[in-house]
Amino acid sequence: MIKYVPEMTSVVMEEIPDRVTLAVDISNCRGNCIGCHSPFLKEDVGEELTPSVIDSLVEANFGIDCFLFLGEGRDPERLLELAAHVRSLGLIPALYSGRREVDGNFWEYFDYLKVGPYIPEQGPLNNPGTNQRLYRVLGADEKAPEGAEFRMRASGRRFIDITPRFWHRGLEAQK
Ligand code: SF4
Repeated sequence: MIKYVPEMTSVVMEEIPDRVTLAVDISNCRGNCIGCHSPFLKEDVGEELTPSVIDSLVEANFGIDCFLFLGEGRDPERLLELAAHVRSLGLIPALYSGRREVDGNFWEYFDYLKVGPYIPEQGPLNNPGTNQRLYRVLGADEKAPEGAEFRMRASGRRFIDITPRFWHRGLEAQK
């Protein structure tokens, strides 16, 4: 089961570049960031996030094109089912993970993946010294943007590190 904190759900413009994103805070966080800003998200709090709850959230937030899971919870199978449901609605699934690396199959389900724990000395995504990375994962037939340097997973999935896009902003990254 995946749970979220309904009162923290909001539409955001900066967490995923060029997207209008509905951001949903997921509890039961598996991360262990030293500078954790929301320790309560490590607890089993909130309400169950189901496909029908996602449908209602999407319906109530017309105009979004991306659905961001802020945290991944402790039920990866269910998380991936929910990500697939998001995609079936024509939306882009994105994940902010607090772990250094996510399971290999996550790269098949999300178009944006953020990895790396929050370390106060290195700061969030908008700090050029950050340890965190936001990757844009390209679809199988998708062309890489001109001039973009992409890397490839063993699975053949290509991805681009878009973290530098945050270094021109005053973004207060959430995780
Ligand atoms: S990912 Fe977020 S909620 Fe989880 S430990 Fe890190 S800062 Fe805390």
